[in-house]
Amino acid sequence: SLFGLPDQAPHERVLLAADPQTGLKAILAVHSTARGPAFGGCRFWTYDNELAALNDALRLSQGMSLKNALAQLPFGGGKAVIIKPAGHFDRPALFAAFGRAVQSLDGAYITAEDVGTTTADMLGMQAHTQYVSGIPRAGAFGGDPSPKTAYGVFVSIDEGVKRVLGRSSLDGVRVALQGLGAVGWHLAEYLHKAGAKLVVTDVDAAKVQRAQEQFGAVAVATSDILAADVDVLAPCALGAVLNQQSIASLKARLIAGAANNQLATAADGDALHARGITYLPDYLVNAGGIISVAREFRNEGEEQAVMTEVGLIRGRVAELLERVRASGATPAREADAWARSLLVKPAA
Ligand code: NAD
Repeated sequence: SLFGLPDQAPHERVLLAADPQTGLKAILAVHSTARGPAFGGCRFWTYDNELAALNDALRLSQGMSLKNALAQLPFGGGKAVIIKPAGHFDRPALFAAFGRAVQSLDGAYITAEDVGTTTADMLGMQAHTQYVSGIPRAGAFGGDPSPKTAYGVFVSIDEGVKRVLGRSSLDGVRVALQGLGAVGWHLAEYLHKAGAKLVVTDVDAAKVQRAQEQFGAVAVATSDILAADVDVLAPCALGAVLNQQSIASLKARLIAGAANNQLATAADGDALHARGITYLPDYLVNAGGIISVAREFRNEGEEQAVMTEVGLIRGRVAELLERVRASGATPAREADAWARSLLVKPAA
C-alpha cells in the first residue's frame, strides 16, 4: 500500500503540484496508460487533510482505468484533485497553474470537469495546456459531459429494471435519487419522462422544490434517501454511500447511479449481494461523460454519434448481468475482473 492508504493499486505516476503564488495544491494521479493516455476529470474540493485528498485522487484514478476500459475507449485512467484553498483565491490564476501542471505531464494525463469544476475552468486552462476537454465550441461538438452521463445511467437503470426486477418498463417504478446536480437533474428528467415515480433529496432545497414542481417528485430528508421505500436507488451525489451502516437499511433491489466510488469497501459489494440487492458498478454505468469528452478530445464528436455510443452502456449492463449469472460472482467483483482483463492496449 502507498503511504499506508488502504486499497491503493500501484500507480504509474503521481504528480504533487504546488504553486505558492496562486495557492495551487494538486494531485495528478496516472493509474494506467496501458490503453492510452490517462483520461479523467479534475475535482476541486475541500479535504480534511492532504492525505485524504491523495486517497481520493488515487481511488478515483484507478476507477477511471476501469471505466475507460469497460467503455472500450483508447485511454487509460487518471484523475486530478485540487485542494480548495481556504480563504480568498484567484480562480482563473489557480486553474492556469493547474493547466501548467497538466501540460508538464506531456500528454500522459488529459483532464476535464469533475465535481467542483466547470466548463469555464476548462476554457481558461486551454491557454496553458492542450490536454483538456469538456469545452463548448462554436459549430463543433463539445462541452458539459453531465447530460451524457445521465443518459448512460438512465439506460442502465432501464436495462436493470427489466432484467433484475422483471418489469417491462419504467412506468410506475419507484426510483430514489440522491443529488439533483448536473447529472441527477438530467437523470430525473429522463426517468420522469419514462413514467418513473421519483423520491428525491438534495442539500439544496431549491433543486428539491423544482423537482417537486416539474416531476411531481416526493421529497425526503437527505438522511432518509438511502432507506427510502423504492425499487431503485440512484446515488448521484457523493462517494462511499454504500457502507456497512447504509446497506442494512436499503429497501431498493437495484442500485445504479452516477456518483463515483459508491462502495465504501469491496466487502460492501459482497454485503449488497448477500442481501439480494443488485449493484450496477458506478464506473460501468456513469461512463457517458468520459465517452463524450473523449470523443471531443479526438475531434470525432457529433451529438447523435456520441449518444449512440453512450447507449452502448445498456448492452454492457446486460452482458455483466449475464456474466454474473454464469459465474455466481457479485456484479462488483465480476465487473472489476472484466475491466482489469481489458487493461491492455486496444487492437488498432
Ligand atoms: P454536482 O455537484 O453538479 O451535483 C451533486 C449534487 O449533489 C448537488 O446538487 C449537491 O447539492 C448534492 N449533494 C451534495 N451533498 C449531498 C447530500 N449529502 N445529500 C444529497 N445531495 C447532496 O455533481 P454532478 O456532476 O452531478 O456529479 C454527481 C456525481 O456523479 C459525482 O460523484 C461525480 O463524481 C459523478 N460523476 C459525474 C459525471 C459528470 O459527467 N458530471 C461523470 C461521472 C461521474
